[in-house]
Amino acid sequence: MARSAKAQDERAGARRAALPFHAITPFTMLDYPGRIACILWVAGCNMRCLYCHNPQIVTSRGAIGEDQALAFLRKRKGLLEGVVFSGGEATIWPGLVAFMARVKALGYAIKLDTNGLRPDVIARLVESDLLDRVALDYKAPRHKFRTVTGAAVFTRFARSLDLLCGQNRIPVEVRSTIHSDLLGEEDILDIARDLSRRGFRGTYALQRAIAGPDRPTLGDLPADARPFDAARLARLSPLELTVR
Ligand code: SF4
Repeated sequence: MARSAKAQDERAGARRAALPFHAITPFTMLDYPGRIACILWVAGCNMRCLYCHNPQIVTSRGAIGEDQALAFLRKRKGLLEGVVFSGGEATIWPGLVAFMARVKALGYAIKLDTNGLRPDVIARLVESDLLDRVALDYKAPRHKFRTVTGAAVFTRFARSLDLLCGQNRIPVEVRSTIHSDLLGEEDILDIARDLSRRGFRGTYALQRAIAGPDRPTLGDLPADARPFDAARLARLSPLELTVR
């Protein structure tokens, strides 16, 4: 099962290899804490999260090639400090490691936003010293992982989590997106306890799903009508929670 899921990821990534990027956000002060950055949006994803509000990135084949992205980064040297690799899911692109090495050689710091389903790729990026920051999505506890993400491979995500928890060099933020149709307070506490058990020491951030008739999602979710009880979560969580 794991092998066929991996093969699927690689086939999806290979199809998009020629034009890996859906878009470039040329400037952000919000997405890379402490750095002025741009965002490279890698096309395609190995999940189908019900609350995903970027279906065009998940299903697109990409419109921007490596040369164009590198030309952009060369022009912005001295103006930008960091590059955020987001998506979609950047780790399904087979050219990611080599491309990041070229970005690093230009002097940029690199942040990876990832859903953690490719621990093999994350391990190579860590070993190659290419990452300066990681934001890892913890989508759901194991028993809800498939329902929320469409991917029945919690163990692969957990390998990424353990790998990132087991190192001290790269700052790691773990994030959960919350929609009350999918996750409740007990699920968030399950996640916080699991992170604590695994020795996670970074920031755990919660963010509300953006959904509703004018904000279409992959799962056609309605707007989230029930706010979660942030005070209860803060009281019971073994980790400090940041709510966005
Ligand atoms: S929210 Fe889920 S489906 Fe959408 S890009 Fe992120 S991991 Fe992929």
